[in-house]
Amino acid sequence: MAMFARLEEFGHEELIFCQNKDVGLRAIIAIHDTTLGPALGGTRMWPYETEAEALVDALRLSRAMTYKSTAAGLNMGGGKAVIIGDPKTDKSEALFRAFGRFVESLKGRFITGEDVGIDVNDVEYMYMETRYVVGVSPAHGGGGDPAPVTAFGVLQGMKACVQEKLGSESFKELTVAVQGLGAVGSHLVKLLTDKHVKVIATDIDPEKVRHAVEQWGIEAVKPQEIHQVPADIFAPCALGAIINDETIPQFKCKIIAGAANNQLEDDRHGDELHRREILYAPDYVINAGGLINVFVELEGYDRERALRMTRGVYYNLRKVFQIAREENISTAKAADKLVEQRIAMVRQLKDMYTGQGLHRMRWETR
Ligand code: NAD
Repeated sequence: MAMFARLEEFGHEELIFCQNKDVGLRAIIAIHDTTLGPALGGTRMWPYETEAEALVDALRLSRAMTYKSTAAGLNMGGGKAVIIGDPKTDKSEALFRAFGRFVESLKGRFITGEDVGIDVNDVEYMYMETRYVVGVSPAHGGGGDPAPVTAFGVLQGMKACVQEKLGSESFKELTVAVQGLGAVGSHLVKLLTDKHVKVIATDIDPEKVRHAVEQWGIEAVKPQEIHQVPADIFAPCALGAIINDETIPQFKCKIIAGAANNQLEDDRHGDELHRREILYAPDYVINAGGLINVFVELEGYDRERALRMTRGVYYNLRKVFQIAREENISTAKAADKLVEQRIAMVRQLKDMYTGQGLHRMRWETR
């Protein structure tokens, strides 16, 4: 693989390969862009079949983190780490502590936490070796489960969508179709039914559906039907790539606004939604509550503050919709544009010398 060409293509700053044979550690840390601040992003553990596959995942996911942090208005950059290994069989205290030492050696340039295959116990092992982790248990000052904050952010995002598409902020008489009644989906259903919204929902787990019907009086449909029910809003809270060639012609909603990551199977599907006048809330903008929740941990966790900052999802989406309207482009493209403009703006600010480097310069000129 032409490594530097790849880094240039994705716009990365740095790649770190971490190896410790004694504990079986093989990991890659990808730092995408630190213009706004330290690279923030989880660590994923996955049994990648090839090193190239692990590398591409690290590059792709770290770049997505830059977009997510920037769109959320945080002064953080984007990074991600991947550990090559099977989370079912290859985990050990030594492995995560060894990885934690690599994170520590970056002195805060990279801050990490949980992702697929990693749980709070693994993060606690990393935490024994480095301060630069978030998502530790509440006993250590962590923020606990981010899902309620993510769901709250999705609700704020829905408000912005309803205003843009339906010209009101009221949820009265709205119907929302929720796909997935997991951690985020179930909290979202609660928030919506508290507002007397009619909710139609599904999950592949019948127990979760039964619970939601009993608890919140929702209407249930089969998993394969949810994206085609007539509803004002379709809220994907389960899988990625749910917006694709097959589902788009079947949508009967006016708005798509949900928590799932990577909802568009391909970039062109964002354009297709635009053409069909279905308003899409770009996933990385509307689901930023979880990221904001871990960000707040860096300054001493406070749930009220996390929720207050997450209200900003409403304003972030309004900005995205404004760009999309003014330039007649898809909301997916408008979100990318917003991010790129913010990074370019901060880069320009850094042109002005503020004296911070004076001490270092004195040493250098001696
Ligand atoms: P989860 O695993 O708790 O819930 C997902 C639910 O979807 C499960 O109940 C599962 O049974 C269900 N599901 C899977 N396939 C389905 C299908 N075909 N049809 C219907 N239901 C199906 O996950 P979560 O934490 O609630 O996250 C949901 C989505 O939001 C994921 O894409 C996740 O990456 C994203 N997200 C979550 C957070 C967070 O704070 N947890 C933050 C940002 C983004």
